[in-house]
Amino acid sequence: MDKIQMNTPLVEMDGDEMTRILWKMIKEELLFPFIDLKTEYYDLGLEKRNETNDQITVDAANANKKYGVAVKCATITPNAARVTEYNLKEMWKSPNGTIRAILDGTVFRAPITVKGIEPNVKSWKRPITIARHAYGDVYKNTEMRIPGPGKAELVYTAEDGTETRALIHEYKGAGVLQGMHNLDASIESFARSCFAYALDTKQDLWFSTKDTISKKYDHTFKDIFQEIFDGEYRDKFEKAGITYFYTLIDDAVARVMKSEGGFIWACKNYDGDVMSDMISSAFGSLAMMTSVLVSPDGNYEYEAAHGTVQRHYYKYLKGEETSTNSVATIFAWSGALRKRGEMDGLADLQHFADLLEQATIRTIESGRMTKDLALITSLPNPEVLNSREFILAIRRELESLLNA
Ligand code: NAP
Ligand code: MG
Repeated sequence: MDKIQMNTPLVEMDGDEMTRILWKMIKEELLFPFIDLKTEYYDLGLEKRNETNDQITVDAANANKKYGVAVKCATITPNAARVTEYNLKEMWKSPNGTIRAILDGTVFRAPITVKGIEPNVKSWKRPITIARHAYGDVYKNTEMRIPGPGKAELVYTAEDGTETRALIHEYKGAGVLQGMHNLDASIESFARSCFAYALDTKQDLWFSTKDTISKKYDHTFKDIFQEIFDGEYRDKFEKAGITYFYTLIDDAVARVMKSEGGFIWACKNYDGDVMSDMISSAFGSLAMMTSVLVSPDGNYEYEAAHGTVQRHYYKYLKGEETSTNSVATIFAWSGALRKRGEMDGLADLQHFADLLEQATIRTIESGRMTKDLALITSLPNPEVLNSREFILAIRRELESLLNA
């Protein structure tokens, strides 16, 4: 069989620990045999980041901007323990944070659904994707403990010195106080990323805030979404047969619980933080969550939502058997290959991405899975495979799909 050809390289960002081991196996068993894989390789493993003073992360993000599509392995975000473990020059920043800052994107997280791993919410038949705004609000707040009686005000001083004041509260006793902000530019790019992703995946878009209570702050989010939708996306949505709708966050929660799924739910920063954990655990497993960073100018970075699975890596280093789930990492590759295929007009590359996902799902649905899934599956007598056996089982399914 001739290998599938590529025109433009994918930006490949390698990572750390157990996911780095899976990364290599996925390439060797599921990609190299079938694709003439073209990538521009960046090693974001912690050793290389340390050696290059983290320049490699910046270079990788710039390459993502140049070529449009990247696939990223999970990476260690250093803490004090990692500084000692890897003898680091500095406690380097989170690579995901660095990449997000350069691409200015929104993160979309969606569960991979398979028969035998049932969502806890009975009505959910299709995945629910969370789009989380990743700037401002309570994550960049200023807080005060108020010791006793006194007056708290909001004060905005314009560049020309004019002040605008608003009373927050006349304290009669002790209490707390918090100030937070957001920016039109950031909300606009959040909105555009959401509309573009909805069109790209042909799913309805929901957006929710608490604008009835927060008449200026949350209302601004609502207004910006509506203006951008009316001005730039209404026609495109109609053509694609999808809808945009805005509702209050509490109404959204009630509707989500009764829905069948199959839509994107855009959330403000804090709501997205909370709701994405609810959605991923209700759908089954972190190892079955994909994540894609979409920038407003149309660059994509695909990855798994989970980390480097450190505990499994230490077992692997001791020569013990591991049963680490590679599904989200495989789907990061298939997502990136499909997008590359779409951008370059390569139908067979897109088709390969579809088959790779089908092969992965079929393997699990046939009862062969890693330990994390075996613990939660409703299938009778699942066969628990180790990390490599699971990937090899997918390879056999893939070969039979490709030969069909
Ligand atoms: P983690 O790697 O997500 O793993 C936490 C636990 O979840 C694992 O110990 C394992 O449970 C289970 N798990 C997660 N993914 C799994 C998989 N694919 N297959 C089977 N089980 C899986 O989180 P962590 O251990 O807290 O973090 C490890 C490192 O990852 C940290 O250095 C952190 O900075 C980094 N991290 C990176 C990213 C990223 O690059 N996007 C995201 C999050 C964390 P059991 O041990 O019970 O089997
Ligand atoms: Mg959280």
